[in-house]
Amino acid sequence: MPELPEVETVRKTLLKEVKNKQILSASIYWNNIIAFPKVEEFQKQIQKQTINNVQRRGKWLIFELDDYYLLSHLRMEGKYFIRKKDDPIEKHQHVIFHFSDGTDLRYHDTRKFGKMYLLKKETAFSEKPLCNLGLEPWDKNLTPEYLKNKFHKKPIKTELLDQSIITGIGNIYADEILFLTKINPKTLATNLSTKDCQNIIKFTKQVLEKAIEYGGTTVKSYESSEGVHGRFQTHLLVHTKKECPICHSKTIKITVGGRGTYYCKNCQKER
Ligand SMILES: [Zn+2]
Repeated sequence: MPELPEVETVRKTLLKEVKNKQILSASIYWNNIIAFPKVEEFQKQIQKQTINNVQRRGKWLIFELDDYYLLSHLRMEGKYFIRKKDDPIEKHQHVIFHFSDGTDLRYHDTRKFGKMYLLKKETAFSEKPLCNLGLEPWDKNLTPEYLKNKFHKKPIKTELLDQSIITGIGNIYADEILFLTKINPKTLATNLSTKDCQNIIKFTKQVLEKAIEYGGTTVKSYESSEGVHGRFQTHLLVHTKKECPICHSKTIKITVGGRGTYYCKNCQKER
């Protein structure tokens, strides 16, 4: 599944490809990808809209149009391709935006789990799905007090994956953050000290920045988002590792909240 760093890389690449392009029409071959509004409305409203910018919130790509925001979540397998309008339509290309310059932006999704919303600009950030998102890792409002206020009496691993607290931390990154903060993933989030929360914020930024950096330097196009994932994996400290890089004890693999979790029992203590 693409995580925040991969989505950020897709955003940067897409921006170069689609900025200032005008959408003439949209062809939709799998209606369930369009979460809002109804397909016919979606197709009507998006006509003649120009893409002015591509932003990101959590794992949502946000295409800024003239009157709307087009939100796109890639979920498991979503990808974008630029094609000429006469190029044959491939099997998994479910949504196609036709530009006035004769090119297409094609959304490809083998699993069909991706979602798109077309929302009026004025209200887009105060309604679903964006209103449910927590703070970005780099938001200045992300403080130990904010975390202590938001944390539930659940394992910290689960809380780091809760997108309504901090948005954009995926499973691999949560393990890496907890390894760097030396916190056992089973620790109840409500037991953490202010210092622990400070460290979580610090290392969340550090881990994601490093991942974006590798994504940004290694991915050749938005067509190969898995490539980013693969390169960052060579820099992982604990996730999928057999041995702790600090104390060299064997790492432990458990399941927390249904997610495979790696940690070092020796370095990461419960609170
Ligand atoms: Zn260790």
